[in-house]
Amino acid sequence: MYVSVVLFTADLRLHDHPPLRAALDGPGAVVPLFVRDRGVADAGFAAANRLAFLADCLRDLDAGLRERGGRLVVRSGDVVEEVCRVAGEADADEVHMAADASGYARRREQRLRRALEAAGRRLHVHETVTTAVAPGAVTPASSDHFAVFTPYFRQWSGRPLRDVLRAPRSVRVPPGIGSEELPSRAALPGISPGLAEGGERAGRKRLAAWLRSGLAGYADRHDDLAGDATSRLSPHLHFGTLSPVELVHRARRAGGPGAEAFVRQVAWRDFHRQVLAARPGAAGADYRTRHDRWRSERTAREDIEAWREGRTGYPVIDAAMRQLRHEGWMHNRARLLTASFLAKTLYVDWRVGARHFLELLVDGDLASNQLNWQWVAGTGTDTRPNRVLNPVAQAGRHDPDGRYVRRWVPELSGVPGGAVHEPWKLTGPDRAGVGAYPDPVVGLAEGLARFKRARSRG
Ligand code: FAD
Repeated sequence: MYVSVVLFTADLRLHDHPPLRAALDGPGAVVPLFVRDRGVADAGFAAANRLAFLADCLRDLDAGLRERGGRLVVRSGDVVEEVCRVAGEADADEVHMAADASGYARRREQRLRRALEAAGRRLHVHETVTTAVAPGAVTPASSDHFAVFTPYFRQWSGRPLRDVLRAPRSVRVPPGIGSEELPSRAALPGISPGLAEGGERAGRKRLAAWLRSGLAGYADRHDDLAGDATSRLSPHLHFGTLSPVELVHRARRAGGPGAEAFVRQVAWRDFHRQVLAARPGAAGADYRTRHDRWRSERTAREDIEAWREGRTGYPVIDAAMRQLRHEGWMHNRARLLTASFLAKTLYVDWRVGARHFLELLVDGDLASNQLNWQWVAGTGTDTRPNRVLNPVAQAGRHDPDGRYVRRWVPELSGVPGGAVHEPWKLTGPDRAGVGAYPDPVVGLAEGLARFKRARSRG
């Protein structure tokens, strides 16, 4: 019997899944396989929130396959060894998987190809599974990747997308392939209490609700911190429970300024992936060096702790950092503000902040996280690397009546309106009312002066 293995990685879905479609179009049976990758855990990338979301995804994928007569095979260990082992047990002819952008994913793919070929099996790697446009599919004339978003987006927008593939009706799995028990989020410690539910079904439900009632207002409302008017689809894109190709098709079909603004954000995701694919080292090193050694030598332990715990004395920063801990997710504007505050006002190395985000974010993603951190820190692709976001002015603009802050910082719940953004200005009983809320860890003017000094030192 002809057998294909489909290795699921960051594409935990049945709809619009080119590797699965290709395997099912073949003449025989299919082994849907997920390997709990020891390499990911060893790299410190297995954060509790993502493991919990992943457990939901695997259960849902298994349930979806069972409805179609199949099941998911789960193994743990080194991906290459486990895929080869399963391919051997099933006497498989070929393996299908999705391409991915990171250096780790590419090395894994190369090792797997070599190991499979040595055993007389073929590896098929499919593009546009984890991105709408593949890294390297559009390039400028003079380089292997775009370093600036706007020209990238122009080319990205002009590129035709492949059609969306339907979920399969039936999946036939050969008998006798053993599987581990599926993980369960209930067994995992340290999960954020407000963590979203994972899995393709939950993702498709959220997508349908978003297209129905969120997308149209996105252009006007996406920066409203209290309004929570973004899609919250990021964990589903990270784990691939939703397909970026399908997302772009469906948003474009809906049309209008909301859809245009939303598609642009999805393109940002592809943009960072093509940067990482071309410069894998940017996951850990400055993409554009600032030659400011002082930054990486600065320890600033107390400032960092205050930032992590949401007690910097800047309410919008603290609200955002507490939202991150509670939900494992944070609004994009809040990510920009908290990252700018750490990297430019406290002048702490961006890697310190990126690491903390990756410990908590359910959508924590090497390309999106590291390269957005670099963008904010001025070591990445921002064409204005020295801009500093003022948390008070930004809070006034994006949380004008203070609702976002009061939601996450209960010490300030009694302070009305926008006054909540500057508690240090309160006097008399109003000031007494804010109780234990701390004073700012640093004055904004002092932070700015520090930043300018450091950058001019070179
Ligand atoms: P929406 O506003 O609804 O946008 C739709 C989708 O577009 C998102 O789900 C996301 O996949 C993509 N997107 C939007 N903005 C960006 C962006 N700037 N860069 C890349 N993709 C984007 N996003 C992650 O998915 N994982 C991360 O680890 C991550 N870390 C970040 C760290 C910092 C410092 C910053 C400034 C941004 C980071 N982002 C990250 C990007 C962005 O903040 C989130 O994708 C977004 O907030 C997710 O919410 P949403 O799904 O409601 O987004």
